[in-house]
Amino acid sequence: MTAQMSGSAPEVVPEAVPEPARVANPHPDRLARPGGDLGDLGDLGDLGDLGGSDGAGAREVAGDLVARDQRVVWHPYAPPAAAPLFAVAQASGVRLRLTDGRELIDGMSSWWAAIHGYRHPVLDAAAHRQLTDMSHVMFGGLTHEPAVRLAETLVEMTPRPLRRVFFSDSGSVAVEVAIKMALQYWTGRGRPRRTRLLTIRRGYHGDTSGAMAVCDPDAGMHHLFSHLLPQHIFAPPPTCGFDEACEDVHLAEFAALLAAHAHEVAAVILEPVVQGTGAMRFYAPEWLARVRALCDEHEVLLIADEIAVGFGRSGALFGCDHAGISPDIMCVGKALTGGYLSLAATLCTDEVADGVAASPVGAFMHGPTFMANPLACAIALANVELLLASPWRERVGALERGLRTGLAPARALSGVADVRVLGAIGVIETREPVDMAVIQPLLVELGVWVRPFGRLVYTMPPYITTSDDLATLTTAMVEAVARTT
Ligand SMILES: *Cc1c(COP(=O)(O)O)cnc(C)c1O
Repeated sequence: MTAQMSGSAPEVVPEAVPEPARVANPHPDRLARPGGDLGDLGDLGDLGDLGGSDGAGAREVAGDLVARDQRVVWHPYAPPAAAPLFAVAQASGVRLRLTDGRELIDGMSSWWAAIHGYRHPVLDAAAHRQLTDMSHVMFGGLTHEPAVRLAETLVEMTPRPLRRVFFSDSGSVAVEVAIKMALQYWTGRGRPRRTRLLTIRRGYHGDTSGAMAVCDPDAGMHHLFSHLLPQHIFAPPPTCGFDEACEDVHLAEFAALLAAHAHEVAAVILEPVVQGTGAMRFYAPEWLARVRALCDEHEVLLIADEIAVGFGRSGALFGCDHAGISPDIMCVGKALTGGYLSLAATLCTDEVADGVAASPVGAFMHGPTFMANPLACAIALANVELLLASPWRERVGALERGLRTGLAPARALSGVADVRVLGAIGVIETREPVDMAVIQPLLVELGVWVRPFGRLVYTMPPYITTSDDLATLTTAMVEAVARTT
């Protein structure tokens, strides 16, 4: 995911790749952990024990790993040899341990995903249990308990009209599935000319072509792939903040565009209440409620992309819950497996499912090879049950208070344009794009893993983060911004 929006700031500064030192063993990192890579399957008790640092030897291994990576591996939104780059040996709780022995407090939840932290005993146990039954079977013509139970749980916890679940392997694919569902729905309802989407600027919906086409047209990748992308309709993003009143004027342009294009619009697609990766901005739930009403008025479907914000991150279970609305189609991903495996789902109403079934082919035309992967579904089920049984609302509330207090000093910095917090999301927006080659190693030096992009230095920590660790995190963010802007 991410940095499509950083058009103004390249993700990394390309650097010459040093030749790795010649060593007798071409894979010295394999020796770094006594006992080999498989470990003891029954051993779930040693959480928190990240082992000790191996000193100079470990540092050599780390340097070698990074150099080898830079010769053969691609990283997200990066030139062929990504830099700066840090090698992780282990992760547990909210801590990442680098191969050189340094420990970082994780402020990213691995891109919104690891809500319970790393190596959670309940999720580890669910994975081990499922491995003894099966890791995978195809989903065409076959089904299994992890998929059925997870689908039942998702239907139960999402807004009531959402009743059917289509599993896929990543958020981007869940968005593709949502778009195809909407188009097939209108074919089934005898209005095949409804093929366009209406969305809002500053959005982010993924990197596959259908999803790219509804990402922000300026910050996104439209200019690179414009010949490939269908031309959709973009309204301005909401300007009423989360706590602000939403007036007619805030919605006027959106309403006018929808009215003008309703005959050709299949669906409105947006991120509810929190515009994530493309903006890190929060808007009034009332704005979303009014969009729902406009969609009803013009008989247009509403697709809610909850991939970033779903599962409690904003202080409500789903972004839509702030507004008390239900979309026709909802996408979830990222936190679905607690950061263990890639899995996503697209939920829809009976009306949408019936419309798709009424289309000439009768079936919904999509089916990933790894659809409803049992291992991922079993972990997702354990993850969601763990979340619902936990005091997540209190934890996210405590993180929100800690983020407000901890990030407040950044407001006084001359290089800072805005500081904002919602739920367990904290954002420092700088006036100029940050220099990643400088701020990234500095944040690591300060003991935290925070991955800024463009003018955004932001955190969405695991829900289990203690107030002490959160204070370390926010102090480091403020200091890094103070020293680099
Ligand atoms: C990350 C994200 C996606 C894409 O998910 P991937 O799993 O990276 O493909 C889509 N929509 C939103 C809102 C996201 O945050």
